[in-house]
Amino acid sequence: MRNTQSTVIGEATLADLRASLKGDVITPHDEEYQLARRVWNGAIDRHPAVVARCTGTADVLSTLEFARSEGLPIAVRGGGHNVAGFGTCDDGLVLDLSPMKGIRVDTSAGTVRAQGGVLWGELDRETQAFGCATTGGLVSTTGVAGFTLGGGIGWLMRRHGLAVDNLCSADVVTADGALVTTSLESEPELLWGLRGGGGNFGVVTSLEFALHPVGPLVVGGAVFHPAESAGELLRFYADWTRSLPDELTTMVVFLTAPPQPFIPAEYQGAPLVAVAVCHTGDTSDALEALVPLRGFGEPVADVIGPMPYVSLQSLFDHSAPYGIRTYWKTAYLDDLDEAGIDELVAQAAALRDLFPLSAVHLHHMEGALTQEPQGGAAFGHRDHRFVLNLIGMWSDDDEHARHVGWVRGAWDAMQRHTTGAPYLNFLGDEGLDRVRDAYGSRAYDRLVQVKRRYDPDNIFRINQNIDPGTT
Ligand SMILES: Cc1cc2nc3c(=O)[nH]c(=O)nc-3n(C[C@H](O)[C@H](O)[C@H](O)COP(=O)(O)OP(=O)(O)OC[C@H]3O[C@@H](n4cnc5c(N)ncnc54)[C@H](O)[C@@H]3O)c2cc1C
Repeated sequence: MRNTQSTVIGEATLADLRASLKGDVITPHDEEYQLARRVWNGAIDRHPAVVARCTGTADVLSTLEFARSEGLPIAVRGGGHNVAGFGTCDDGLVLDLSPMKGIRVDTSAGTVRAQGGVLWGELDRETQAFGCATTGGLVSTTGVAGFTLGGGIGWLMRRHGLAVDNLCSADVVTADGALVTTSLESEPELLWGLRGGGGNFGVVTSLEFALHPVGPLVVGGAVFHPAESAGELLRFYADWTRSLPDELTTMVVFLTAPPQPFIPAEYQGAPLVAVAVCHTGDTSDALEALVPLRGFGEPVADVIGPMPYVSLQSLFDHSAPYGIRTYWKTAYLDDLDEAGIDELVAQAAALRDLFPLSAVHLHHMEGALTQEPQGGAAFGHRDHRFVLNLIGMWSDDDEHARHVGWVRGAWDAMQRHTTGAPYLNFLGDEGLDRVRDAYGSRAYDRLVQVKRRYDPDNIFRINQNIDPGTT
């Protein structure tokens, strides 16, 4: 363990920061530091010089001014879920928005405004009190801000679009310390950039989303099949998903069966393949739309039924415990053809030796997310059928090489069956070319222009970086 910091900030300087902030200022000398420097991905082991916990916009302004005057690199943290670990850094300043938990539902406008440290479980709780929701993440502890800035795929996306498609306004502290409110009417190019451009343009202190009537009950859950049936199931899935109503969002998950009562004892701990679903329409329509899936093959478990939307939104939480070590690789697929299915099944077979948490997720896209929102969005790749996420997860450092090796090998093998482009929210720290691929060169070039306007010196660079110097 590292005990020393290579960036030394004088006590008097730190005292100034403490005096100007309402939130906590944490340095390596503080007991809380070991927790404060960490993010969700336990494989990330970085040592910032200081963590500033901001309680509001005033704290953000003071922290930014401090970091700039001290020449410290800045990592902005929303929910801390970023797999690449961009919510922390070595020797710089973490601008931690986690105390900023304000949420306001406006039922007459049909919108919700959330501060930069809100998590999806917190937002869903407030919006569901009014029978509404907006597209959020599959795990309730993911940050609303980081998730939205990278696109935001979730259970509501095929009916209501991605999180970015619902983002109607945001307050942003830009690199020069200005507070900018962006919307379709005011600084619309910044709104376009925030709709997928990551944390490149400033600290987003609050975000406003369009709401939709959802729940409180939806039809959700999953059917589980033995891994041996994965090929047949994927062939069925590739075909079935061509004609689904937009109310129905589904995904395939290759996993190790959890020791849950709904899994027959003989299958607990065995490799399974599941199709998880969410239908937000009428219950009878939902059950009818799901007949082909539930009638297919011989599932070992079928736990699909009406459930509270907030329960569905935390159904995957157990698969992503805080501090688990993880490594992901992602790509879009135009389609699932025979050869792609065979390869995916072959690569997923290795999960037998990588239990219990490593997994493969295949999200079905299409539906409403093929339509750009009014004003457009930097998010690209709306025309692919699926997005693949290869997920290595392990608990002990000595398992690192095995899980990372599998993810990389499986991704290499799948390459020729994918478009090659990554989905930004699932992307690791893979360099500029991969960030460009996540947008396509036209959107990337436009993002560079937005970056030059709002952060020409690349103050916000600990992220999926849009380099203002790129031509
Ligand atoms: C368990 C798990 C489940 C996930 N499920 C989904 C899913 O269902 N769908 C999906 O699309 N993605 C999903 N993701 C990916 C997730 O959306 C991204 O990792 C996202 O970056 C997380 O946002 P965060 O705020 O929690 O993370 P952070 O690590 O805090 O931030 C992520 C990035 O956004 C920037 N950022 C965060 N907040 C702000 C802000 N307020 N202002 C400016 N920049 C900011 C950070 O600087 C960083 O670059 C999941 C990730 C995990 C770990």
